[in-house]
Amino acid sequence: MNEVSEAAWRQLEKSVAGRVLRPGEPGFDTSSAPFNRRFTRTAPSGVLAVADVADVRRAVEWAREEGVPVVPRGGGHSYAGYSVNTGLVVDTRALNTVTADGSTGLVTAAGGALMADVYAAIEPHGIAFALGNGASVGIAGLALGGGSAATSRRLGLTADALVRTTLVTADGELVTCDAHRNPDLFWACRGGGGGNFGINVSFTFQASPVPDVSTCLLLWDGGDAPAVFAVLQEVMRQAPDELSVRLGVSAADGPDIVVSAVGLHLGPASELRELLAPVLAAARPLRADIADRTFWQAKDYLLHETSGGAFAVRTGFATEPLPPEAVTEVLGLLARRPGSGNPDGCGLALFGWGGAINRVDQADTAFVHRHAQYLVSMDTSWDERDGPAAVAANLRWLADLREAVAPYLAEGSYLNFTDPDLTDWRTAYYGANYPRLVEIKKRVDPDGLFTFDQAVGS
Ligand SMILES: Cc1cc2nc3c(=O)[nH]c(=O)nc-3n(C[C@H](O)[C@H](O)[C@H](O)COP(=O)(O)OP(=O)(O)OC[C@H]3O[C@@H](n4cnc5c(N)ncnc54)[C@H](O)[C@@H]3O)c2cc1C
Repeated sequence: MNEVSEAAWRQLEKSVAGRVLRPGEPGFDTSSAPFNRRFTRTAPSGVLAVADVADVRRAVEWAREEGVPVVPRGGGHSYAGYSVNTGLVVDTRALNTVTADGSTGLVTAAGGALMADVYAAIEPHGIAFALGNGASVGIAGLALGGGSAATSRRLGLTADALVRTTLVTADGELVTCDAHRNPDLFWACRGGGGGNFGINVSFTFQASPVPDVSTCLLLWDGGDAPAVFAVLQEVMRQAPDELSVRLGVSAADGPDIVVSAVGLHLGPASELRELLAPVLAAARPLRADIADRTFWQAKDYLLHETSGGAFAVRTGFATEPLPPEAVTEVLGLLARRPGSGNPDGCGLALFGWGGAINRVDQADTAFVHRHAQYLVSMDTSWDERDGPAAVAANLRWLADLREAVAPYLAEGSYLNFTDPDLTDWRTAYYGANYPRLVEIKKRVDPDGLFTFDQAVGS
């Protein structure tokens, strides 16, 4: 990166409506700190907290002229810290207007809108599309990398609901793309990943009316994991698209291993109880909360701000249920976990996929993983005060867990649970769609202005 003069920073400041923040200034940290505290050592030379789209264009032009790396930042939740670099961070969060039209179901969100902004705009109209369950997650990162939700078996991915997006490309131009205008770029924006093709300043999604729903939160003792995994995975194999369950096994401080099933059913609790009856009969839960809710109550109930502090997540996809021997291996590894000062602990979770996600051809959007029954997520966490040995032990443990489960998984990793430790990320994230993404990248960003460790084309 070129050394940027103070005069150049001042020039940027004078030419924008937003604020330029330099290290140490109030607001600098909240505009640039990565959510994953594993990456706090990276800090930008400056942040532009944009006020409007013209600021985004100016930021891109300025970064190109000055030879400064530039990254957009929305919610800042990239698991790999990719919305922070050592150059210029473009904090888009002031671009948070969201409008919804109840008659057409079209929802338009500015590029910096967070999940909470989107939910606030759609609730009065009773419509939704697949949205994440973290209130401060950015719509840009979520949609560009796929975006899965508890509604995805019925409604598809967030990217599947996208009908139009406008982005500032590396030449500073505003480009709108949809199925007819710039269809290649539109294709890339549906699963090609945040930060690769420009800075998206607007997204329009097709939403649909939502019914009243029901939720479940079931907890079992770790000893029940073999029975629960066997039976609940069979339940899910036959379940309607209306039901989605996240089945996990985890441990934190203390000796206990806990099995959990957190689910959303787009139907009444009476149906949900019937669907879950086999697993409730197979092992008696320590806690069983199954209740009718409005869609909006359910969204709040399922909301979580998990994995605080520093953490690492590795992912895979399963096309078949995890067999008993895999569950036994996971339990053995949990019993031998190194532990840390982070109460989030560590574990493995199966997110129910399939349904509408798999009814899209793998070449129709950049999001290639259209075959999975489960997104398999493995994680561990630590506290910033844990020493390097504890961090290394946790990362080694996670690598062991991934290796133990790998024989039971299909190829691939989930781009939105970004894994900086992946060596084969091109194939793992994008599979057969990678060459087309590289071609599009070369066309819209020939000099690689938008770059980071796992950027398309790098
Ligand atoms: C608490 C929590 C809950 C989550 N829940 C879900 C979930 O339910 N489903 C799911 O699929 N994922 C979920 N995720 C993962 C989440 O989708 C990704 O971390 C996503 O990338 C976050 O987007 P962001 O805007 O918040 O993060 P950022 O770090 O700001 O951005 C992520 C990437 O997108 C780029 N980017 C940001 N803004 C723009 C823009 N305007 N234009 C172009 N590129 C941009 C960034 O440079 C970066 O590379 C969750 C994460 C957390 C921490």
